[in-house]
Amino acid sequence: MDCKLAVSLMHDYLDDDLAKEQNMMLKAHLQSCADCHMRFKELEQTEMALYSLPRHIPTASKELTERILNTLPKHKEPQIWVKWMKRHPAATAAALFLVVMLLSVINVFNQDSQLVVQGNNLDQIVIEGNTVIVPEGNVVSGDLTIENGKAEIFGDVEGNLTVIDGSLYTASTAQISGQVKSVDQALDWIWFKLSNVFSEIAYR
Ligand SMILES: [Zn+2]
Repeated sequence: MDCKLAVSLMHDYLDDDLAKEQNMMLKAHLQSCADCHMRFKELEQTEMALYSLPRHIPTASKELTERILNTLPKHKEPQIWVKWMKRHPAATAAALFLVVMLLSVINVFNQDSQLVVQGNNLDQIVIEGNTVIVPEGNVVSGDLTIENGKAEIFGDVEGNLTVIDGSLYTASTAQISGQVKSVDQALDWIWFKLSNVFSEIAYR
């Protein structure tokens, strides 16, 4: 395996998207390649930093933008950046374009706040306003995905439970056989894009 493929597999691995064989190939490469091993550790730390961020971030884009900018590496001498920007106007324009694009994406995510429920037997759930309830004694077979709403689970979910841009309450009676995942779409998307951009820059 070459290092370029290894890096792309790392991203898939961190997204939980890797088949067993690819997983083993990646592990084998990491054991034999010190560079990739180091790069993988760095990526893992970025991932951990992401998940240690507060789950619920105020919807104001300004605050979100500030938070993201604050997590980026800080430079002691900002003048260096200014000089660099003057010498590389094309790259600066590209970076500005990226920022504008990210901001517009945040706006799209914020505007699109309609409740979306995806699952197999939705007759087992009760929807009140934007709250999705699985009552005690009811069983949802298969995965359940709730977007832009509150999930309150008292019964069983026989699959993965995913809450996107919402909140989750699981009662002590709840039984969820799969993975429980809470996702803040805009933020995850930005991290995904940023980490891709950085790895591309690093391999140029
Ligand atoms: Zn390598």
